Amino acid sequence: MNAFATPASASKSRFRELKVVTKVRESSIITSFHLEPVEPEGWRPFEAGQFLVFRFPVREGKDFVLRNYSVSSSPERKGSYRITVKREAAPRADVPGGVSSCHLHDHVEVGDVLTAEGPRGDFVLDRQSSRPVVLLSGGVGLTPLVSMLHALAGTQRRVFFIHACENGEVHALRDEVEALAASRPGMAVHFCYRFPTDADRAAGCHHSEGVITRELLQSLLPLDDYDFYLCGPSPFMQAVHGILRGLGVPRQRISYEFFGPATLLEAPAEPAPVQTPPLAPAAVLDGAMTVEFRKSGRKGVWNPAAESLLAFAEDQGLEPEFSCRAGVCGTCKSKLLAGEVAYFEEPLDDLAPGEVLLCCSKPQGPIVLDI
Ligand SMILES: Cc1cc2nc3c(=O)[nH]c(=O)nc-3n(C[C@H](O)[C@H](O)[C@H](O)COP(=O)(O)OP(=O)(O)OC[C@H]3O[C@@H](n4cnc5c(N)ncnc54)[C@H](O)[C@@H]3O)c2cc1C
Repeated sequence: MNAFATPASASKSRFRELKVVTKVRESSIITSFHLEPVEPEGWRPFEAGQFLVFRFPVREGKDFVLRNYSVSSSPERKGSYRITVKREAAPRADVPGGVSSCHLHDHVEVGDVLTAEGPRGDFVLDRQSSRPVVLLSGGVGLTPLVSMLHALAGTQRRVFFIHACENGEVHALRDEVEALAASRPGMAVHFCYRFPTDADRAAGCHHSEGVITRELLQSLLPLDDYDFYLCGPSPFMQAVHGILRGLGVPRQRISYEFFGPATLLEAPAEPAPVQTPPLAPAAVLDGAMTVEFRKSGRKGVWNPAAESLLAFAEDQGLEPEFSCRAGVCGTCKSKLLAGEVAYFEEPLDDLAPGEVLLCCSKPQGPIVLDI
């Protein structure tokens, strides 16, 4: 049993134990772990695109880190999950390598037990849609999209799987993607290598060189109304999102997931007009609730259609930090100076008094936030 064994404190939470049943090296830097629940009821169905939250003790019995890993296997494969993890090596000699990814790669073996919660996340296929689908990934960002590809293989929808990475040495799950695409008509694959090796060129395992450009997408995608799903590193996301918007793809047709702190994909909308009436006790205006962002000096009337306080803050032109948008990572944690909120998704970790997670809460009355 390794140092990342299940802590006793996890047993009474929604975390459960998942045993590593297979470990597969997918590329020089990416490894898959096939996981099965120790208790049969530990397997919960997932939607293609969702992720599990893993709890790793940093030191035996001491602090924990939480890390998300998308499920890369088919949602039809009941009873097991596969996660596919890139080893985040130290960028410099004076800093440590990635805590969880290096541990998974270097120390976790078949038979070890991990502790995980979920599946979670709303980066999922729109099953009601019959539009053709474009799955666009960069690097290890392909993991949720491979799960989506599995799900789409069982439908009639046209699918374009476009993946960009450095070269064949780091390209994970290539054979699986090609086999899926070949499993029925209407599924096309394109691999774009930035720095193909001589071996890649000899083997002809990529379709284009360089990065994904507007011209490349135009040449690959016949004019149509597509659902786009993007996942990759921030520069990839910014570039591809910009290209798609430039091609006239409406915002609502582009779904995306960031694997780290999210970056702005485009300039924020103009802030909604600041509400001039003073806050409490006149904070409830015609039955509407006000939300004051004290540090920013902004106030607005709560929009009941807003998905969350985070979305509302963004609508007001603010840019709070966020990552998972699912109550997991804590990146959007803020101080609640007055008022009360209700959670529509329970935060994974306990919050201290006066703290609020913006991504999974809504106000219950007039509130004041310290942002
Ligand atoms: C929704 C979601 C899904 C995800 N799915 C996947 C997935 O399917 N596959 C996957 O591989 N990842 C995925 N991720 C990313 C994953 O959650 C982790 O963020 C990633 O594995 C890095 O975690 P770590 O603990 O290894 O690295 P960390 O310990 O968080 O370190 C990150 C990097 O910072 C460097 N670093 C550490 N200290 C310093 C310092 N002082 N100065 C400079 N650099 C430093 C480390 O060397 C490392 O390269 C997902 C993330 C999200 C939010």
